Amino acid sequence: METARKNFTKGNISVFTNGILLPKIPDGFWRACHDYNIGLTVSEYPIKIDIEGIKALAEKFGVEFRWSSSREDFYVEPLNLKGNSNVRLNFGLCVRANSCIALSHGRLFTCTFAPNVRHFNKKFGTNIEITPADSVNIYDEGITADEILQRMSEPIPACRWCNLRNSDIRSIDWGITQGKIEEWT
Ligand code: SF4
Repeated sequence: METARKNFTKGNISVFTNGILLPKIPDGFWRACHDYNIGLTVSEYPIKIDIEGIKALAEKFGVEFRWSSSREDFYVEPLNLKGNSNVRLNFGLCVRANSCIALSHGRLFTCTFAPNVRHFNKKFGTNIEITPADSVNIYDEGITADEILQRMSEPIPACRWCNLRNSDIRSIDWGITQGKIEEWT
């Protein structure tokens, strides 16, 4: 948080979390939020957490608390295991594209799907391919902030594995996974 604030002196910065561990987190976390003017955004999942206790802690330490957008409805944005979707169409429809930017092992991705799909591959024995073209190496010599921003705003090859046509997106009930691949496809 200190590093983020030093580098982004004027922007809004928020810790985005499901909140589960917040009641147990050491006071140093709250103090850092306060000292570096960093807010707290909690996902509104239907899980049992002591929200009033969390809000009281935020108030005690002078930290701005907010909910993320309401999550009463849950949707599956299915994968296309054939990997032949239209990347531009998917990127244009995707709420994560250039919005849920992820840093993983020194590489920036325009979404959280691409850097994490390896866990899906491991679980289900699939071979969803992620290549260096799907991300930017922030340590590349000479790379500029403008180039990184440009890359984040463009479709990536991995978009071919998503399927964001409205007709294929379906709502699901909140619950514990059965661990079946059909839940994702
Ligand atoms: S790979 Fe493309 S379509 Fe899929 S989640 Fe990422 S940005 Fe969205």
